[in-house]
Amino acid sequence: MELHLKTLSELRTLLDRGEISAPELTEAVLNQMAQVDPKVQAYLTQTSDLAHLMAQQAQERLQQGERTPLLGIPIGIKDNLCTAGIRTTCASKILHNFVPPYDATVVLKLRAQGAVFVGKLNMDEFAMGSSTEFSAFQVTRNPWDLERVPGGSSGGSAAAVASHTAIATLGSDTGGSIRQPAAFCGVVGLKPTYGRVSRYGLIAYASSLDQIGPLTKTVEDCAIMLSAISGHDPRDATSVNQPVPDFRKSLRPEVKGLKIGVPREMFGQGVHPEVALRVRDAIQSLEEEGAEVHEVSIPMMEQGLAIYYILAPAECSSNLARYDGVRYGLRVGAEKGHIGMMEATRAEGFGDEVIQRIIIGTYALSSGYYDAFYLKAQKGRTLLRQEFDRVFQQVDVLMGPTAPTPAFRIGELVGDPLAMKLSDVLTIPVNLAGLPGLSVPCGLMEGLPVGLQIIGKPFDEATVLRVGYAYEQKAGLLEQLRHPTGLA
Ligand code: GLN
Repeated sequence: MELHLKTLSELRTLLDRGEISAPELTEAVLNQMAQVDPKVQAYLTQTSDLAHLMAQQAQERLQQGERTPLLGIPIGIKDNLCTAGIRTTCASKILHNFVPPYDATVVLKLRAQGAVFVGKLNMDEFAMGSSTEFSAFQVTRNPWDLERVPGGSSGGSAAAVASHTAIATLGSDTGGSIRQPAAFCGVVGLKPTYGRVSRYGLIAYASSLDQIGPLTKTVEDCAIMLSAISGHDPRDATSVNQPVPDFRKSLRPEVKGLKIGVPREMFGQGVHPEVALRVRDAIQSLEEEGAEVHEVSIPMMEQGLAIYYILAPAECSSNLARYDGVRYGLRVGAEKGHIGMMEATRAEGFGDEVIQRIIIGTYALSSGYYDAFYLKAQKGRTLLRQEFDRVFQQVDVLMGPTAPTPAFRIGELVGDPLAMKLSDVLTIPVNLAGLPGLSVPCGLMEGLPVGLQIIGKPFDEATVLRVGYAYEQKAGLLEQLRHPTGLA
């Protein structure tokens, strides 16, 4: 089998045994990129020169006997993660020329472990969106059907894994941005517990919700990536000092006695019946393996979207205040005085979706409206979290669909902001509660992948991954998922 089609763990073995070399592997992935990325358009920046250099260095380390999980593995990085010396745009005109002087902590960790960087991936501008259509630069296409969206905001990260132009990628998830594109593209995506992974160097959207995580071909690869990027970081005060297990070691296809909660609210109105069917089948297959399934209820989940669309814009309005044309990024209207320059820069540099959210957030925080909107949303968030705590006293994991529908058509929802936002209705509550959430492919409907979402207790990624792994083994879909039909 061609090297780019293989999983991280398969490639690890081949590299460690010296059966293939790191430059050979990088070459295979870059070739695939040259062939399919003109169609898929997952990459905003391709770093092939750097990749060759890093592969060479990785090979030297391999020859010296070093054996680390990511040594020599080609990886793509979402373009909201700062990479020293590599353009980082957040898919926004306002940062079109921004070259960070430093690495995000996760990027630094990957470098230290000898990963090979193949490029920076497209996304919705500032991670605001669900289809990657809000990128200021290009529309990424779904490898299963090039007329459809890859999901968002980490659409480039998901499409790259599905089209084999990276072995694994990093994305970020504020309301579903890793899990929903993973579901749409038929790959595995994990949003870790809030605080598990350092956010230092992640360009902030909504800081109380943002979390970085991996997108991979298999659950095992996801476990490897998670161990590689996790851990406390003095540069991010919200990163938690919890031991980082070797998540790969917790993977046993064993669910006997496991208690699965199935929230009624995750199968409500708007969930496509075919999606519900695939997900129920997946849950039943675990029941056959000895898991106990309990129907549960988390009524506040239905308020999640409303709460999120106050809190996320509020935080974004404050986080995005720094793009003012003064220190870095775009500057327009220098002749207009400093206020005029800032106005012109922001009007020109931000897309409509971003501007809309800044305005909504500023409004929700303004005096007189703060209590009615922001404070009320915070109270709702607390109630939601308490409801999750309560059901997690009875069950080990929760399961439902990742997204209510499979990938929609390019252009289909851009004019319908509510419908677009509804595609995150099942993932947003997980961010509000700070919990880990995994999306694993659970079949195809009309030729498009469907995602099963597995939600865990705080810092219990080990169980989430184990259950995902058990399902993946039972389902036996991996071979089919290697060959997305849009590229055939
Ligand atoms: N689609 C959601 C939004 O538009 C979530 C995005 C994300 O997780 N970054 O805000």
